[in-house]
Amino acid sequence: MSGLDPILRELREALPELSIKENEPLSEHCSFRIGGRCAAFVEPASEREIAELCRILRAHGEKPILMGNGSNLLISDEHFERVVLHLGSAFSAAEQVGETGLYACSGITLRKLALTAAEHSLTGLEFAHGIPGTLGGAVSMNAGAYGGEMVQVVRRVRYLSPELELRETDEPQLSYRHSRFSDTEDVILGAELELQRGEETAIREQMDTLMEKRRASQPLNMPSAGSTFKRPVGGYAAALIDQAGLKGFAVGGAQVSEKHAGFVVNRGGASFEDVLRLMEEIRERVYAASGITLEPEVKIVRP
Ligand SMILES: Cc1cc2nc3c(=O)[nH]c(=O)nc-3n(C[C@H](O)[C@H](O)[C@H](O)COP(=O)(O)OP(=O)(O)OC[C@H]3O[C@@H](n4cnc5c(N)ncnc54)[C@H](O)[C@@H]3O)c2cc1C
Repeated sequence: MSGLDPILRELREALPELSIKENEPLSEHCSFRIGGRCAAFVEPASEREIAELCRILRAHGEKPILMGNGSNLLISDEHFERVVLHLGSAFSAAEQVGETGLYACSGITLRKLALTAAEHSLTGLEFAHGIPGTLGGAVSMNAGAYGGEMVQVVRRVRYLSPELELRETDEPQLSYRHSRFSDTEDVILGAELELQRGEETAIREQMDTLMEKRRASQPLNMPSAGSTFKRPVGGYAAALIDQAGLKGFAVGGAQVSEKHAGFVVNRGGASFEDVLRLMEEIRERVYAASGITLEPEVKIVRP
Protein backbone atom coordinates (compact mmCIF):
# COMPACT_ATOMS: atom_id res chain seq x y z
CA MET A 1 0.00 0.00 0.00
CA SER A 2 1.48 3.32 -1.03
CA GLY A 3 0.35 6.88 -0.34
CA LEU A 4 0.29 7.39 -4.09
CA ASP A 5 -2.27 4.63 -4.68
CA PRO A 6 -5.26 6.98 -5.22
CA ILE A 7 -3.22 8.96 -7.77
CA LEU A 8 -2.06 5.83 -9.57
CA ARG A 9 -5.65 4.52 -9.72
CA GLU A 10 -6.81 7.79 -11.24
CA LEU A 11 -3.91 7.78 -13.70
CA ARG A 12 -4.72 4.24 -14.86
CA GLU A 13 -8.36 5.13 -15.36
CA ALA A 14 -7.64 8.34 -17.27
CA LEU A 15 -4.68 6.98 -19.25
CA PRO A 16 -4.98 3.19 -19.65
CA GLU A 17 -2.07 3.09 -22.12
CA LEU A 18 0.37 5.02 -19.93
CA SER A 19 3.52 3.09 -18.96
CA ILE A 20 3.74 3.05 -15.14
CA LYS A 21 6.41 1.00 -13.35
CA GLU A 22 5.85 0.73 -9.62
CA ASN A 23 8.65 0.50 -7.04
CA GLU A 24 11.22 1.06 -9.80
CA PRO A 25 14.94 1.32 -8.90
CA LEU A 26 16.16 4.75 -10.03
CA SER A 27 19.74 3.43 -10.01
CA GLU A 28 18.86 1.63 -13.25
CA HIS A 29 17.84 4.89 -14.92
CA CYS A 30 20.85 7.08 -14.22
CA SER A 31 24.44 6.92 -15.39
CA PHE A 32 25.87 7.01 -11.82
CA ARG A 33 23.99 3.76 -11.00
CA ILE A 34 23.03 5.22 -7.60
CA GLY A 35 19.51 5.87 -6.30
CA GLY A 36 16.63 4.41 -4.33
CA ARG A 37 13.32 3.15 -5.65
CA CYS A 38 10.45 5.41 -6.64
CA ALA A 39 6.78 4.66 -6.09
CA ALA A 40 6.00 5.21 -9.78
CA PHE A 41 8.24 5.59 -12.82
CA VAL A 42 6.08 6.93 -15.60
CA GLU A 43 6.96 7.11 -19.30
CA PRO A 44 4.43 9.08 -21.34
CA ALA A 45 4.36 8.60 -25.10
CA SER A 46 2.51 11.78 -26.07
CA GLU A 47 2.03 15.37 -25.02
CA ARG A 48 -1.55 14.55 -24.09
CA GLU A 49 -0.33 11.92 -21.62
CA ILE A 50 2.20 14.36 -20.13
CA ALA A 51 -0.43 17.07 -19.71
CA GLU A 52 -3.00 14.70 -18.19
CA LEU A 53 -0.41 13.20 -15.84
CA CYS A 54 0.64 16.66 -14.64
CA ARG A 55 -2.99 17.70 -14.25
CA ILE A 56 -3.80 14.71 -12.03
CA LEU A 57 -0.65 15.17 -9.94
CA ARG A 58 -1.38 18.87 -9.53
CA ALA A 59 -4.95 18.14 -8.42
CA HIS A 60 -3.44 16.01 -5.62
CA GLY A 61 -0.88 18.67 -4.69
CA GLU A 62 1.99 16.62 -6.16
CA LYS A 63 4.58 17.41 -8.80
CA PRO A 64 6.69 14.99 -10.79
CA ILE A 65 10.45 14.57 -10.65
CA LEU A 66 11.60 15.17 -14.22
CA MET A 67 14.20 12.97 -15.76
CA GLY A 68 15.77 12.56 -19.18
CA ASN A 69 18.64 10.10 -19.51
CA GLY A 70 19.68 10.63 -15.89
CA SER A 71 23.24 11.44 -16.99
CA ASN A 72 23.63 14.53 -14.84
CA LEU A 73 21.93 13.31 -11.67
CA LEU A 74 23.10 12.23 -8.23
CA ILE A 75 20.03 10.53 -6.76
CA SER A 76 19.45 9.84 -3.07
CA ASP A 77 19.39 6.19 -1.91
CA GLU A 78 16.17 6.84 0.00
CA HIS A 79 12.77 5.64 -1.14
CA PHE A 80 10.95 8.23 -3.28
CA GLU A 81 7.22 8.31 -2.53
CA ARG A 82 6.94 10.31 -5.73
CA VAL A 83 6.13 10.03 -9.41
CA VAL A 84 9.20 10.22 -11.65
CA LEU A 85 8.38 11.46 -15.13
CA HIS A 86 10.82 10.02 -17.65
CA LEU A 87 10.94 11.42 -21.16
CA GLY A 88 12.84 8.96 -23.29
CA SER A 89 12.70 6.97 -26.52
CA ALA A 90 8.89 7.08 -26.78
CA PHE A 91 9.26 10.81 -27.13
CA SER A 92 12.06 11.09 -29.65
CA ALA A 93 10.73 12.16 -33.05
CA ALA A 94 12.74 14.68 -35.09
CA GLU A 95 12.02 16.42 -38.38
CA GLN A 96 13.61 19.02 -40.58
CA VAL A 97 12.03 22.49 -40.51
CA GLY A 98 12.73 24.68 -43.52
CA GLU A 99 16.24 24.71 -45.02
CA THR A 100 18.35 24.57 -41.88
CA GLY A 101 16.06 23.95 -38.92
CA LEU A 102 15.37 20.78 -36.97
CA TYR A 103 12.47 20.25 -34.54
CA ALA A 104 12.81 17.39 -32.07
CA CYS A 105 10.89 16.07 -29.08
CA SER A 106 12.69 16.37 -25.77
CA GLY A 107 13.26 12.64 -25.14
CA ILE A 108 15.51 12.19 -28.17
CA THR A 109 19.13 11.40 -27.28
CA LEU A 110 21.72 13.95 -28.33
CA ARG A 111 23.45 11.13 -30.19
CA LYS A 112 20.35 10.37 -32.30
CA LEU A 113 19.68 14.08 -32.77
CA ALA A 114 23.24 14.75 -34.01
CA LEU A 115 23.06 11.74 -36.35
CA THR A 116 19.71 13.01 -37.70
CA ALA A 117 21.30 16.40 -38.35
CA ALA A 118 24.17 14.66 -40.19
CA GLU A 119 21.69 12.69 -42.35
CA HIS A 120 20.17 16.03 -43.40
CA SER A 121 23.66 17.48 -44.04
CA LEU A 122 23.14 19.99 -41.23
CA THR A 123 26.15 21.11 -39.23
CA GLY A 124 26.27 22.63 -35.72
CA LEU A 125 25.44 19.67 -33.47
CA GLU A 126 28.69 17.71 -33.77
CA PHE A 127 29.71 18.83 -30.26
CA ALA A 128 26.59 17.22 -28.77
CA HIS A 129 26.97 13.76 -30.35
CA GLY A 130 28.99 12.31 -27.43
CA ILE A 131 27.04 13.90 -24.56
CA PRO A 132 24.93 11.05 -23.11
CA GLY A 133 21.77 13.08 -22.42
CA THR A 134 18.42 13.86 -24.02
CA LEU A 135 17.46 17.09 -25.73
CA GLY A 136 15.29 18.10 -22.71
CA GLY A 137 18.15 17.64 -20.26
CA ALA A 138 20.58 19.37 -22.62
CA VAL A 139 18.35 22.44 -22.99
CA SER A 140 17.74 22.60 -19.24
CA MET A 141 21.49 22.33 -18.54
CA ASN A 142 22.71 24.21 -21.63
CA ALA A 143 24.96 21.21 -22.25
CA GLY A 144 28.17 21.88 -24.12
CA ALA A 145 31.51 20.42 -25.13
CA TYR A 146 34.53 21.17 -27.31
CA GLY A 147 33.56 24.79 -27.94
CA GLY A 148 29.90 24.05 -28.72
CA GLU A 149 26.90 24.73 -26.47
CA MET A 150 23.14 24.33 -26.84
CA VAL A 151 22.76 28.11 -26.67
CA GLN A 152 24.40 28.33 -30.11
CA VAL A 153 21.70 26.18 -31.77
CA VAL A 154 18.45 26.44 -29.78
CA ARG A 155 16.00 28.78 -31.51
CA ARG A 156 12.73 28.01 -29.73
CA VAL A 157 11.58 25.76 -26.90
CA ARG A 158 8.09 24.26 -26.45
CA TYR A 159 7.10 23.47 -22.91
CA LEU A 160 4.23 22.76 -20.57
CA SER A 161 3.99 25.28 -17.74
CA PRO A 162 3.06 24.24 -14.16
CA GLU A 163 -0.31 25.89 -14.88
CA LEU A 164 -0.66 23.28 -17.66
CA GLU A 165 -0.43 25.76 -20.52
CA LEU A 166 1.40 24.79 -23.70
CA ARG A 167 3.90 27.55 -24.34
CA GLU A 168 6.79 28.43 -26.65
CA THR A 169 9.70 30.71 -25.97
CA ASP A 170 12.53 32.00 -28.10
CA GLU A 171 14.20 33.31 -24.94
CA PRO A 172 15.17 30.19 -22.99
CA GLN A 173 17.94 32.18 -21.23
CA LEU A 174 20.70 29.65 -21.71
CA SER A 175 23.93 30.42 -19.88
CA TYR A 176 26.79 28.28 -18.57
CA ARG A 177 25.12 24.96 -17.52
CA HIS A 178 21.92 26.83 -16.74
CA SER A 179 18.66 27.93 -18.37
CA ARG A 180 15.33 29.40 -17.31
CA PHE A 181 14.16 25.77 -17.06
CA SER A 182 16.76 24.91 -14.41
CA ASP A 183 14.74 26.81 -11.82
CA THR A 184 11.15 26.14 -12.91
CA GLU A 185 8.75 23.22 -12.99
CA ASP A 186 8.17 23.58 -16.74
CA VAL A 187 8.32 20.36 -18.75
CA ILE A 188 10.30 20.85 -21.94
CA LEU A 189 8.40 19.10 -24.73
CA GLY A 190 10.65 19.87 -27.68
CA ALA A 191 12.93 22.40 -29.26
CA GLU A 192 13.61 23.89 -32.64
CA LEU A 193 17.26 24.13 -33.54
CA GLU A 194 18.89 26.42 -36.07
CA LEU A 195 21.79 24.70 -37.86
CA GLN A 196 23.75 25.39 -41.05
CA ARG A 197 24.13 23.52 -44.30
CA GLY A 198 27.20 21.32 -44.26
CA GLU A 199 28.67 18.25 -45.85
CA GLU A 200 27.56 14.92 -44.38
CA THR A 201 30.96 13.16 -44.53
CA ALA A 202 32.73 16.09 -42.87
CA ILE A 203 30.04 16.27 -40.15
CA ARG A 204 30.39 12.55 -39.39
CA GLU A 205 34.20 12.80 -39.36
CA GLN A 206 34.04 15.64 -36.84
CA MET A 207 31.69 13.61 -34.61
CA ASP A 208 34.09 10.64 -34.75
CA THR A 209 37.08 12.87 -33.93
CA LEU A 210 35.34 14.34 -30.88
CA MET A 211 34.21 10.89 -29.73
CA GLU A 212 37.82 9.68 -29.94
CA LYS A 213 38.94 12.65 -27.81
CA ARG A 214 36.25 11.78 -25.27
CA ARG A 215 37.26 8.11 -25.14
CA ALA A 216 40.92 9.07 -24.68
CA SER A 217 40.30 11.50 -21.81
CA GLN A 218 37.14 10.39 -19.96
CA PRO A 219 36.38 7.28 -17.85
CA LEU A 220 33.51 6.17 -20.09
CA ASN A 221 33.73 2.57 -18.84
CA MET A 222 32.74 3.55 -15.28
CA PRO A 223 29.43 4.89 -13.95
CA SER A 224 29.50 8.66 -13.40
CA ALA A 225 27.45 11.79 -14.04
CA GLY A 226 30.13 13.48 -16.15
CA SER A 227 31.86 16.56 -14.76
CA THR A 228 31.03 16.73 -11.07
CA PHE A 229 31.72 20.46 -10.69
CA LYS A 230 31.19 23.49 -12.88
CA ARG A 231 34.14 25.30 -14.41
CA PRO A 232 35.00 28.02 -11.87
CA VAL A 233 36.00 31.53 -12.86
CA GLY A 234 39.78 31.53 -13.22
CA GLY A 235 40.42 27.82 -13.64
CA TYR A 236 39.33 24.32 -14.63
CA ALA A 237 37.77 22.07 -12.00
CA ALA A 238 39.71 19.00 -13.19
CA ALA A 239 43.07 20.82 -13.03
CA LEU A 240 42.33 22.24 -9.57
CA ILE A 241 41.30 18.81 -8.24
CA ASP A 242 44.42 17.24 -9.75
CA GLN A 243 46.66 19.97 -8.29
CA ALA A 244 45.09 19.36 -4.86
CA GLY A 245 46.45 15.79 -5.14
CA LEU A 246 43.03 14.17 -5.31
CA LYS A 247 43.26 11.93 -8.40
CA GLY A 248 42.26 8.45 -7.25
CA PHE A 249 41.10 9.71 -3.81
CA ALA A 250 38.08 7.71 -2.64
CA VAL A 251 35.32 7.69 -0.07
CA GLY A 252 33.69 4.25 0.04
CA GLY A 253 32.71 3.32 -3.50
CA ALA A 254 33.04 6.88 -4.84
CA GLN A 255 36.37 7.88 -6.35
CA VAL A 256 37.97 10.80 -8.16
CA SER A 257 38.67 9.25 -11.56
CA GLU A 258 42.33 8.38 -12.18
CA LYS A 259 41.75 9.23 -15.85
CA HIS A 260 39.97 12.58 -15.49
CA ALA A 261 39.99 14.37 -12.12
CA GLY A 262 36.84 16.30 -13.07
CA PHE A 263 34.79 13.07 -12.89
CA VAL A 264 33.70 11.31 -9.71
CA VAL A 265 33.14 7.65 -10.63
CA ASN A 266 31.24 4.85 -8.95
CA ARG A 267 33.94 2.19 -8.64
CA GLY A 268 31.39 -0.29 -7.33
CA GLY A 269 28.68 -0.05 -4.67
CA ALA A 270 29.01 3.72 -4.13
CA SER A 271 26.22 5.17 -2.01
CA PHE A 272 24.68 8.62 -2.33
CA GLU A 273 26.43 9.58 0.93
CA ASP A 274 29.81 8.33 -0.37
CA VAL A 275 29.55 10.69 -3.34
CA LEU A 276 28.33 13.63 -1.23
CA ARG A 277 31.15 13.15 1.30
CA LEU A 278 33.72 12.87 -1.49
CA MET A 279 32.36 16.03 -3.15
CA GLU A 280 32.61 17.89 0.18
CA GLU A 281 36.18 16.68 0.71
CA ILE A 282 37.10 17.81 -2.83
CA ARG A 283 35.56 21.25 -2.25
CA GLU A 284 37.44 21.71 1.05
CA ARG A 285 40.80 20.55 -0.27
CA VAL A 286 40.56 22.53 -3.50
CA TYR A 287 39.62 25.63 -1.53
CA ALA A 288 42.55 25.09 0.85
CA ALA A 289 44.97 24.65 -2.07
CA SER A 290 43.68 27.37 -4.41
CA GLY A 291 41.16 29.62 -2.64
CA ILE A 292 38.60 28.65 -5.31
CA THR A 293 35.16 27.32 -4.33
CA LEU A 294 33.80 24.62 -6.63
CA GLU A 295 30.06 24.48 -7.32
CA PRO A 296 28.39 21.18 -8.24
CA GLU A 297 27.38 20.68 -11.86
CA VAL A 298 25.55 17.43 -11.07
CA LYS A 299 21.98 17.86 -9.93
CA ILE A 300 21.35 16.39 -6.49
CA VAL A 301 17.92 14.77 -6.34
CA ARG A 302 16.25 14.04 -3.00
CA PRO A 303 12.72 12.73 -2.33
C1 LIG B 1 30.18 10.22 -19.37
C2 LIG B 1 29.47 11.55 -19.34
C3 LIG B 1 29.93 12.60 -20.12
C4 LIG B 1 29.28 13.84 -20.10
N1 LIG B 1 29.76 14.85 -20.88
C5 LIG B 1 29.14 16.06 -20.86
C6 LIG B 1 29.62 17.13 -21.68
O1 LIG B 1 30.58 16.99 -22.43
N2 LIG B 1 28.96 18.31 -21.61
C7 LIG B 1 27.87 18.51 -20.80
O2 LIG B 1 27.31 19.63 -20.79
N3 LIG B 1 27.40 17.50 -20.03
C8 LIG B 1 28.00 16.30 -20.04
N4 LIG B 1 27.50 15.27 -19.26
C9 LIG B 1 26.33 15.52 -18.38
C10 LIG B 1 24.96 15.22 -19.02
O3 LIG B 1 25.08 14.25 -20.05
C11 LIG B 1 24.31 16.50 -19.59
O4 LIG B 1 24.09 17.47 -18.57
C12 LIG B 1 22.97 16.19 -20.27
O5 LIG B 1 22.53 17.33 -20.95
C13 LIG B 1 21.89 15.75 -19.28
O6 LIG B 1 20.79 15.28 -20.03
P1 LIG B 1 19.82 14.16 -19.44
O7 LIG B 1 18.74 13.88 -20.42
O8 LIG B 1 20.61 12.97 -19.00
O9 LIG B 1 19.22 14.93 -18.19
P2 LIG B 1 18.99 14.40 -16.70
O10 LIG B 1 20.31 14.08 -16.10
O11 LIG B 1 17.95 13.36 -16.68
O12 LIG B 1 18.42 15.74 -16.04
C14 LIG B 1 19.24 16.88 -15.92
C15 LIG B 1 18.35 18.08 -15.54
O13 LIG B 1 17.49 18.38 -16.64
C16 LIG B 1 16.13 18.33 -16.22
N5 LIG B 1 15.34 17.80 -17.35
C17 LIG B 1 15.55 16.67 -18.04
N6 LIG B 1 14.62 16.54 -19.01
C18 LIG B 1 13.80 17.62 -18.92
C19 LIG B 1 12.64 18.07 -19.62
N7 LIG B 1 12.12 17.38 -20.64
N8 LIG B 1 12.06 19.24 -19.23
C20 LIG B 1 12.57 19.97 -18.22
N9 LIG B 1 13.66 19.59 -17.51
C21 LIG B 1 14.27 18.43 -17.85
C22 LIG B 1 16.11 17.38 -15.02
O14 LIG B 1 14.99 17.62 -14.19
C23 LIG B 1 17.43 17.77 -14.35
O15 LIG B 1 17.29 18.95 -13.59
C24 LIG B 1 28.14 14.03 -19.27
C25 LIG B 1 27.67 12.96 -18.50
C26 LIG B 1 28.32 11.73 -18.53
C27 LIG B 1 27.79 10.59 -17.71
